[in-house]
Amino acid sequence: MLLYIHIPFCDSKCFYCSFNSYVDKFHLKKSYMDALYLQLFYELKRFDVKEKEIETVFIGGGTPSTVSAALYKKIFELINPYIADDAEITTEANPNSATRTWIEEMKELGINRISFGVQSFDDKKLKFLNRAHNRDDALRAVKDAADAGIQNISIDLIYATVLDTKELLQEDFRQAFELPINHLSAYALTIEEGTPFEKKPDAALEKLSLTNFVFETIKEKGFTQYEISNFGRYQSRHNLGYWQYKDYIGAGSGAVGCKNGVRYYPSSDLEAYIRDPLHAREEKLTAQEQKEEKLFLGLRSIVGVDEKILSEKELKRAQLLADEKKLVKNGNTFYNLDYLLSDEISLFIIN
Ligand code: SF4
Repeated sequence: MLLYIHIPFCDSKCFYCSFNSYVDKFHLKKSYMDALYLQLFYELKRFDVKEKEIETVFIGGGTPSTVSAALYKKIFELINPYIADDAEITTEANPNSATRTWIEEMKELGINRISFGVQSFDDKKLKFLNRAHNRDDALRAVKDAADAGIQNISIDLIYATVLDTKELLQEDFRQAFELPINHLSAYALTIEEGTPFEKKPDAALEKLSLTNFVFETIKEKGFTQYEISNFGRYQSRHNLGYWQYKDYIGAGSGAVGCKNGVRYYPSSDLEAYIRDPLHAREEKLTAQEQKEEKLFLGLRSIVGVDEKILSEKELKRAQLLADEKKLVKNGNTFYNLDYLLSDEISLFIIN
């Protein structure tokens, strides 16, 4: 069982971001965290969670470091009995708000992994994206996390913005690998509906022009790719859990939970969520939808696809791809050799 907790507050709205987050509702933080507590209390029952059954916790957003550690205390007191002794407990954080004190206090609560939204070490690019931090903030925050004894540190970097050149990216990766990180996520900028960049579509470059370069540069530094955007000497157990299609609780406004093929969507409207945190829209996935999701997720990552989920026709097509060396079969599982082709391969198999 995985647990995701969503924190929908941010210091600034990045021009490319379509996530559920608010920059002008900080006065609701306390009531939001109270609502979150109520929802979690209910979800532990709805998901029938047993003691020490939660393998991973991921606090994401939004920006979890906009909320003081003190406001997380009650939440951890509630979930602690359900968290496995060796659980991976991650929080996302942004460099401007993840102070040394905040990091230390979150570690006290049990955090053993931090994923920093760094995006770049180039101040001009950070401004262009409307990030709330600069290069020095990022260097300081990652070092503080390491000094505070956080075991696993990851950073996110973004590429394929119109400012990116191979030289700029090389400098971003050089700087990244000088830091005490063991995981890196690299995302190509995509233009999403309803974001300021929607009116500026030339903010993004055609991503394939840089993707191979980015993949090769990261791998040369010794990080293994274990999903289309994720690399590391450490592999996030929470990420792997999603791709293995494990059940997950989703707590918070705009979060999603899933149990036995039923998805739960708490309200993404912050005020409505605070009023009624137990209300969630339900969506029952068909067997076909679940199979397709397993296929797409498995082929985008090292998880692979178990032949048992495929129909006779699909199995034949997967076997054909294995014969053509586009997939590798090991035991009962098909593995993808080129994540950039994963969607095409999945579509070919399900036809
Ligand atoms: S910090 Fe993250 S969640 Fe917040 S606006 Fe920027 S990209 Fe979106």
